[in-house]
Amino acid sequence: MQKKIVLLPGDGIGPAVAEAAASVLQQVADNFSHTFKFDKKAIGGAAIDSAGEPLPADTLQACQDADAILLGAVGGPQWERNPPHLRPEKGLLQLRKGLGLFANLRPVKTFPSLLSSSPLKQEIVEGSDLLIVRELTGGLYFGTPSERRNAGQTVVDTLLYERKEIERIVETGFQSAMLRNKRLASVDKANVLESSKLWREIVDEKSKDYPEVAVEHMLVDSTAMKLITNPTYFDVIVTENLFGDILSDEASVLTGSLGLLPSASLRDDELGLYEPVHGSAPDIAGQDIANPLGAILSAAMLLRYSFGMEEEADSIEAAVDNVLQSGYGTQDMHVDTANIVGTARMTSLVIEQLMEAKVSS
Ligand code: NAD
Repeated sequence: MQKKIVLLPGDGIGPAVAEAAASVLQQVADNFSHTFKFDKKAIGGAAIDSAGEPLPADTLQACQDADAILLGAVGGPQWERNPPHLRPEKGLLQLRKGLGLFANLRPVKTFPSLLSSSPLKQEIVEGSDLLIVRELTGGLYFGTPSERRNAGQTVVDTLLYERKEIERIVETGFQSAMLRNKRLASVDKANVLESSKLWREIVDEKSKDYPEVAVEHMLVDSTAMKLITNPTYFDVIVTENLFGDILSDEASVLTGSLGLLPSASLRDDELGLYEPVHGSAPDIAGQDIANPLGAILSAAMLLRYSFGMEEEADSIEAAVDNVLQSGYGTQDMHVDTANIVGTARMTSLVIEQLMEAKVSS
């Protein structure tokens, strides 16, 4: 298969981890006889410096014409004092909006060799493997602009959802559950919010199309508790923007390292934007110590969700699993000092695993 991937390295450690993920994808292409054509474009601070804006028109155009997009990270202290339209993060927000990416998928999985890195007790976190599907373009963050009334004594924020916006994210939740263990927790606050009542109605309607999926309605407050007391309870969680923002950050600490977590932002065709959950980590940029695994696992999501290449995606995840089981890690992970490797070495270890898998197949 031939596919076009736009690579958006961005700022800080972004270029290092994006390059790492691209070289892993290249090895997968060799293993499975695919051709992946990479087109590198500027975004964020790098684009402000080179083109005077955080999302140049040719970057957006290339992304619109691509089969998938792989991003490193954006941001850094050198652009922090810029006016809002010249901030690196603006480029990412414009890109998500410009492409209509409404579903954010964040898997959280603990690795047996890293259980001691989790802030939770080993017996609680062991075996956790869940996916949060968050609505990304509606709700409280996108309502009528907030206002202050009565000389600043009253504030108004608007939580607005169209039926079709809820329908499409709930659909993504069901489809995601079908790809996993077919259990879906739909999270809301239906005891208080009108938007949550409509959300529940739509989930119940959609569940008729997915009789194999076991659906449970859960309130966001009890979900927050259960995520840290019994994370293995969950398979797929689907929820609206604000709840998803908070729950996905809560879930992200389960693994013990931000550097390991991938994400995808999708719409209802195959195009998707894939990026590690972490930011540009300017404090460690340029030192060959950044953990590339979040970006590499994002590349696995790219293969699975945009290209439908399940076996290829599994091969990356298996390679990462094997490297971690051998005890290796980057400096952000709790591994033996003797087994700490840098960005380039960690990437080579994953590629070596993929090469071995090719030889033995
Ligand atoms: P951050 O995720 O960049 O860093 C938080 C801490 O985690 C730092 O100590 C960093 O060294 C460490 N860390 C992060 N990723 C790591 C990795 N792969 N390997 C090893 N250690 C890693 O968050 P921050 O410091 O709050 O933000 C830094 C910049 O990144 C800011 O400009 C922020 O706006 C931006 N940011 C961008 C994105 C994005 O591009 N999607 C997301 C979050 C933050």
